[in-house]
Amino acid sequence: MYRKVIVFLLIIILLSSFNIPVFASNANVLYGKVVILDAGHGVETTNFFRGYDEQAAMLALAHKIKPLLEAHGATVHLTRSTPANVLLSARVAMANIWSLDALKRTVEQNSSGFDSILGTLIEIDRLINIMGLIIKNPQAYESFFFNTPFSPSEPIHPDLERIFELQSNPVIADNFLFISLHSNATAIPINTAVHGADVFHISNEHPRLSDYYSNYSHVERSIEFSEILLDYIHETGIQRQTVSPANFFVIREHNLPAVLVENGHHTNTADRTKLMDDEYLDRLAFAYLNAIIDFFSDINTPLTLFLTDLLHSSSTRIRYNIRSTWFHLRQLR
Ligand SMILES: [Zn+2]
Repeated sequence: MYRKVIVFLLIIILLSSFNIPVFASNANVLYGKVVILDAGHGVETTNFFRGYDEQAAMLALAHKIKPLLEAHGATVHLTRSTPANVLLSARVAMANIWSLDALKRTVEQNSSGFDSILGTLIEIDRLINIMGLIIKNPQAYESFFFNTPFSPSEPIHPDLERIFELQSNPVIADNFLFISLHSNATAIPINTAVHGADVFHISNEHPRLSDYYSNYSHVERSIEFSEILLDYIHETGIQRQTVSPANFFVIREHNLPAVLVENGHHTNTADRTKLMDDEYLDRLAFAYLNAIIDFFSDINTPLTLFLTDLLHSSSTRIRYNIRSTWFHLRQLR
């Protein structure tokens, strides 16, 4: 008996010395969750203010949040992992691919050979291919999205609308989160007294979107995360401000739970001093970790298929979509 206890203790000491978690407490609390971190801007489009470089600070923050989430079991994607600029069209195309890939896997895992499942897989592959073309050549395909050129009277492209329909699946609501990381500046003339963190989310009541698309599925979920996150950011010392609707590109051109976070005002001395402090960014990254764990904590839906939801209407639409894609690609070549 004593020998068994000693062997057990030795194993624990051995595992601890290699930093292997002995008791799997919350190591998998985010297992199956997918978080997309979008570090705003890049070297060509960054905002500088008194030694502060927004793209560098937000990239550093993304690189601090990512390992924390991964240590808790999440899958984390970065739309930008270096200072190099990435066009907004490529960022949203990546987000669309990552979510379509997840939906495809759920279909495959539940596949039982029905034609309708095969049809759905073919359709998802086709949409992933379109997004892949946009990443390869984002400028040539910018007209696929809303505001390049800005054309408020035009409805959403039918292929993008189909992606939005697929993304309305509860699998996405329960397992995905898109976070765009920024810091704020006041309009010129700059008011250095204005400070604090704000969060923006898409809205179905936005007047500029009424002719484009006003059936986003995850608005409430996005607002829920906004409120949780601002509370945690407030605890780090940057004051909680507002949660507001907006139609920014990176939260508009996909139908995922999504927020754009202004992590304080870099035009305010106190906020900027924090955002330029590496130790503060560590604390801010933990604020994100805690907010994301809270956000997903009430969700018990695994990343499995809601087959009827996903297959609904796909077979009737597929012929139409193949035609429209062919037409679209010819137009844009
Ligand atoms: Zn920004």
